[in-house]
Amino acid sequence: MRKPIIVGNWKMNKNNAETEAFFKEVDAAAASENATYGIGCPFTDLRTAADNAKNLIVAAENCHFEDSGAFTGEVSVPMLEELGIKYCIIGHSERRQMFGDTDETVNKKAKRLIAAGMTPILCIGETEAQYDAGETEKVIRDQLTGSIADLDAKDVANMVIAYEPIWAIGTGKSATKEDAQNCCAIVRDQVKVMYGQEAADSVRVQYGGSVKPGNIVEYMACPDIDGALIGGASLKADSFIEIIEKTK
Ligand code: PGA
Repeated sequence: MRKPIIVGNWKMNKNNAETEAFFKEVDAAAASENATYGIGCPFTDLRTAADNAKNLIVAAENCHFEDSGAFTGEVSVPMLEELGIKYCIIGHSERRQMFGDTDETVNKKAKRLIAAGMTPILCIGETEAQYDAGETEKVIRDQLTGSIADLDAKDVANMVIAYEPIWAIGTGKSATKEDAQNCCAIVRDQVKVMYGQEAADSVRVQYGGSVKPGNIVEYMACPDIDGALIGGASLKADSFIEIIEKTK
C-alpha cells in the first residue's frame, strides 16, 4: 500500500515570521497515520520550518548536484542535510522554463539526493502546446527516461514523482480527474518499463496543477494518484488545513 503524500509548494513566497505562523497554525492538523503532509519552502525559511514541524515534512524547492564550489546563488545537498531536510522538489516546470533545469541536471540532482538518503519530489509535465498536439504521453515518457535514468530500482521505489501539466499550474484550469489519472498511470507505467513492477507499485505519483480544497478529494480517489503538489492553495493556512482534513 502506498502512503499518500500531499506537499505544498510555496515557490518564492513567505518570510520567516510568516513561516513560523503558518507552521504553528497547521502542524497539529497534519498528524496522521494514513498520509504524509508537508511544505516546500524557500531556502531562507527552511530552518524556521524545520524548527516548527512535528508532523509536517519540510522540503527544499531545489538543490545543486555538486557539494560545493563556484556556483553563485546555489545551495547543495549537504547544506540541506545540515538543516535536517529530508525532501527536495526537483525539476519543477518553473525551474525548467526560467532557470535552465534539464532532464540531465534533474537526473544529477536526483542522484545526489538519493545518495544523501533524501527523497526527491521530481516534477514533470507537458506544455499547453504539447497537450494540444496530443504529445502528452510522449513528453511524460521522455522526461522520465532522462530524469530517472541510471538509478537503482529500490531508490526509484522510494521517490515521489509529481505529474504537473504546465497549463494547469497557477491557472485555475485543473486537469480533469480522468486526464490526471491517465497521465499518472503513464508515469507509473514508464517506471515499470524502466525499473520493473515492484518499483512501479511503490513509487508515489502526485498530481499538481490548481489543486484546491474543492477538487482534492476527486483526485485522491483515482487509483494511480497518491497525492498532490499544491502551489496557491498551500499558501493560506485555512485552505491547506481544509485539504488535510479532507484527505486524512
Ligand atoms: P498551483 O501550483 O497549485 O498553484 O497550480 C502547483 C505547482 O506549481 O506545484
